[in-house]
Amino acid sequence: MLSQLRQIVEQFGEANTLPDAMNLLVQQTKATMNLDCCSIFITNKETKKLTLMASEGLASQVVGATHFNFDEGIVGLVYQKGEPINLANVSEHPQFKYLPSSNEELFNSFLGTPIIHKRQVLGVLVAQQSSPRLFDKLEESFLVTLAVHLGSVLSNTILDLPDKKIKKNRSIQLQGSPASPGICINKAHVLQTHLLLSDIEIEVTDQADHEMKLFNNAVQMCADEFSNVSITLKEKVSQDAFMLFDVYGHLLKDKALLAAVEGQIFQHNLTAKSAIKKVAEGYIKQFESMNDPYLKERAVEVRDVGQRLLYHLSNRNEEKQHFPDPLILVAEEVTISMLAMIPAEKLKGIVSVRGGLSSHVAILSRALGIPAVLGAPLRLKNIHYKNIIIDGYAGTIIVEPEHTLVSQYQVLLDEENELKELVDLGANQAAMTKDGCEVEVLLNTGLNINSDVFNEQHFSGIGLYRSELPFMLSNAFPTEQQQANTYRRVFEQCKNLPVTMRTLDIGGDKQLTYFPINEENPFLGWRGIRLTLDHPDIFLVQIRAMLRASIDTQNLRIMLPMVSSVGEVEEAKRLIIQAWQEICVEQEFSSEQFPLPDIGVMIEVPSAIFIIDQLAPLVDFFSIGSNDLTQYLLAVDRNNSRVADLFDSYHPAVLQAMQLILQQSQKNNVEVSICGELAGDPIGVLILLGLGYRKLSMNAFNMNKVKYLLNNVTISELEACTKVALNAHDGAFIKQTFVDYLDEKGLGGFVRAGNK
Ligand code: PEP
Ligand code: MG
Repeated sequence: MLSQLRQIVEQFGEANTLPDAMNLLVQQTKATMNLDCCSIFITNKETKKLTLMASEGLASQVVGATHFNFDEGIVGLVYQKGEPINLANVSEHPQFKYLPSSNEELFNSFLGTPIIHKRQVLGVLVAQQSSPRLFDKLEESFLVTLAVHLGSVLSNTILDLPDKKIKKNRSIQLQGSPASPGICINKAHVLQTHLLLSDIEIEVTDQADHEMKLFNNAVQMCADEFSNVSITLKEKVSQDAFMLFDVYGHLLKDKALLAAVEGQIFQHNLTAKSAIKKVAEGYIKQFESMNDPYLKERAVEVRDVGQRLLYHLSNRNEEKQHFPDPLILVAEEVTISMLAMIPAEKLKGIVSVRGGLSSHVAILSRALGIPAVLGAPLRLKNIHYKNIIIDGYAGTIIVEPEHTLVSQYQVLLDEENELKELVDLGANQAAMTKDGCEVEVLLNTGLNINSDVFNEQHFSGIGLYRSELPFMLSNAFPTEQQQANTYRRVFEQCKNLPVTMRTLDIGGDKQLTYFPINEENPFLGWRGIRLTLDHPDIFLVQIRAMLRASIDTQNLRIMLPMVSSVGEVEEAKRLIIQAWQEICVEQEFSSEQFPLPDIGVMIEVPSAIFIIDQLAPLVDFFSIGSNDLTQYLLAVDRNNSRVADLFDSYHPAVLQAMQLILQQSQKNNVEVSICGELAGDPIGVLILLGLGYRKLSMNAFNMNKVKYLLNNVTISELEACTKVALNAHDGAFIKQTFVDYLDEKGLGGFVRAGNK
């Protein structure tokens, strides 16, 4: 039964058109369950009707022509109740509605089950038989299980109704996840991977030297290609985002990987293509089996690089694609090598069927400021060269928009460009509200700082330096000297400004390839300070490197991540003081010449909020990691797209927590700032200011926007909005309170398309 069920679902997903898929489904379900009739009704939200889309048993003339209101017939009852209805004699039910000329009179028993995805009833699946009997438990559970599977398959297909009966002459609107804000109207350009690893059949050769030469050539071509994209990216994105993509260059130089391919060619006599398939698939399997989302993402990279090598080995270069016009890149899974192919000035938008909000493509598109929608329920073959609009604020894609819609979006796009110009003009403005309240704006970074940031922006220091990035770039734990060299550059770049360096925060979704951690619940596991305290060797080397690097500039502040108890801070301080004393002795410094840097704690684990009184005497500052704090307060994995809509940084509990942290810190006279995403988010900024926060640390990308906002709002008005928000029951209301405020000020363009 289970394998039949799987087969039905798989074939449904693979069918060419939705009507084909539904016909197949009713045929197969009828046969598998020995039914006399199986039908499927699909919800049409616009017309508020359930349409009979396919049936094996009912007369064909009623298929496509039968529409039930949501409260009509037993099918409507299933829809409304959202649960299965099992009847021995359906016509005896008071809500039964007879369908003339349908043959329905032949069937007595009825089992209808809703097809649900994410609380939405997408349709109703109906099984019928002539004998008047109740369906047994096994049958019921088969149909319900089938409907559950269908729910997720249909959620990806239903909007792409090729069925002109439903979307006659109308543009099709699809919903994905908003991965990078902005509007874009252009032609879709579908890129498909030419040669998949799975296309390659294993072949042997007696010309190993020749194959090796081919392989080396392909590696060189790939390396050139990626280094071109790296150069373009380096100019455009922050070092943090860039670093993620430099991984490709590293993969192509990875000695173990290259040696494995060489081994397959010389020892197993495989052709270059076969050797690549063998080695890449081995690595992919390993990465895919890991629980950790960061490591899983490595599988995507290995596949991408492997397939790009196959492309170069296939002499496809002659068919080099040209991209004469601006375009929206659309692909099953947008990869870095696709981005490498398209000239940067032509790439206006990104749509990917696969990929989550923290995937590489999402990070890159945000860093580049290119609108992107991921997880888009598209059929690629239907979209190539079609005009599309993408709205990266709402996550919508409109295929073949009508003329009037294009004009409306064009107005929004023009307004958005105007707003951007206005915001950029304000880059040199003081970070001050309209009523004269000064706000400290700090920078979040990792590695070195893009020198443009210094020229173009004013900020009062580094509020968060994510020190794990240099560790991720390395093939082994970097030495004290290597770390000191990296950190020194940052201290010198920010010579007269404080630099808050966070100690190594690996674990969770941040993994080092040379130090894999396999855990059931990595976010609740060996992370941040927990790990480094268990490894004083790693911790002390890092602290010594930070201290040594800051000798000339003396602008270091040390920050501890993932603190959940007082003991952790005491132990970390003991080690920091030990390292500092060592350096003082080595350099023959007195404590006046080289004072102990300020030490602070991140408030990102809920327990830390309730021990602020105990933590305060031990530290010089607190900084709120709102990303993790939201995750842990709401028990919502920050990387899980299934619960992405529950990750709500405006949740009343988050606001209450923020208020409590501020009150407790002020009571203890300890400085407090925020360095999570909330501090760079327009609504987050308003909430935080209204609560009383005056120190915000954010990515360079958000800085101008935040300053412009500050210049146009007043503290007294924000305090009034926050007062309302603190009494609210849900995040949506809180968000709306501030959206209304922004609208009043004519600043709605910060939270949606357009400039109003
Ligand atoms: C946070 O959790 O808000 C934070 C700033 O740290 P990270 O995002 O690096 O975990
Ligand atoms: Mg964190």
